[in-house]
Amino acid sequence: MNNRVWIFDTTLRDGEQSPGCSMNVPEKLRVARKLVDLGVDILEAGFPIASDGDFEAVDAISREYPQVQVAALGRATKLDIERAAKALDKAKRPRIHTFIATSDIHLKYKLKMSQQQVLDDACAAVELARSYVDDVEFSAEDGARTSTDFLERISRAVVAAGARTVNIPDTVGFSTPDEYAEIIGRVVAALGDTAIVSVHCHDDLGLAVANSLAAVKAGARQVECTINGIGERAGNCSLEELVMVMKTRNDRYPFETGINAEAIYAASQELASVISFGPQPNKAIVGANAFAHEAGIHQDGYLKERTTYEIMLPQSVGVPESRLVLGKHSGRHALKARIEGLGFNLTREELDFVYTELTTLADNKKGLMDPEIAELARRSQQALAIS
Ligand code: MN
Repeated sequence: MNNRVWIFDTTLRDGEQSPGCSMNVPEKLRVARKLVDLGVDILEAGFPIASDGDFEAVDAISREYPQVQVAALGRATKLDIERAAKALDKAKRPRIHTFIATSDIHLKYKLKMSQQQVLDDACAAVELARSYVDDVEFSAEDGARTSTDFLERISRAVVAAGARTVNIPDTVGFSTPDEYAEIIGRVVAALGDTAIVSVHCHDDLGLAVANSLAAVKAGARQVECTINGIGERAGNCSLEELVMVMKTRNDRYPFETGINAEAIYAASQELASVISFGPQPNKAIVGANAFAHEAGIHQDGYLKERTTYEIMLPQSVGVPESRLVLGKHSGRHALKARIEGLGFNLTREELDFVYTELTTLADNKKGLMDPEIAELARRSQQALAIS
């Protein structure tokens, strides 16, 4: 089986529709630039019927970046699809992404429709979308909570109607890796090579990346994800985590993406500068502490051989360098290395002086930066010269 996994980025759609993440058109264009640098295969730019801003963003990104596949979202209705098609009018490689809920709970309480009505609407929407563009994706909203028999049936039907990609989202982040792999495996078997099976996972139980990876092992070949894992509620599958698992543990996940990983950090930073929050400090891959070492034993090991405590090179994801934070958990080895790096050559006594001062100071602080360490080194030389 082909091991190429398509990366469908929905930072500008699912990500953008979460609290604190609204973006205007110029802001979406700025983030889109970074997504193009990153090499995402499909860039979902908005939900055109939802607002004029979304319509304009899809249009602007389609004109600005002809090299990328641009997707626009619409419910399985005539008006939504016509609006999506219009927004994509200038796209060189347009994709219409249409969806309808398929789970019993959504059918009963939200749509008040039968499975047959949902299936008919889905097929009609896909056919209409295909009258505008060649590339149509169908999503079975709340797919992970849908009966697998119905998922197989609707997946076959929408592919017969012209869909090339069938997405089975875990819309509410409820699934687990073993369960999701079973569901996806069934749909993959039902569709064979007639369509690409896609996954879209939410992180309500912290399993979005694990579920996506399990699905890829079960045959999914498109993953929908976002930068910094932003998205509805607890967010979506984090693009950077998914990609770096496949790169770092290619022995266990022998799959390839088209992502230029060295552009990850710049994309993460750009997004953080546009929306109202950045990744939490301990966020994998892109958090401020992701490549920082403070504990003395770790710093000592790291300085002797990087791989003792680091599984990825920070430069491989575009982070300039590892940070050795000097705090109360740091040891003398790290301190000595840092001071030498700052251009000082201290005697043992001077180093002891700095170390004592550092541990006192660091008790009251979060960690010392280079200028403060340099100041301590100078004071140690003066103090010991006088005595
Ligand atoms: Mn979603």
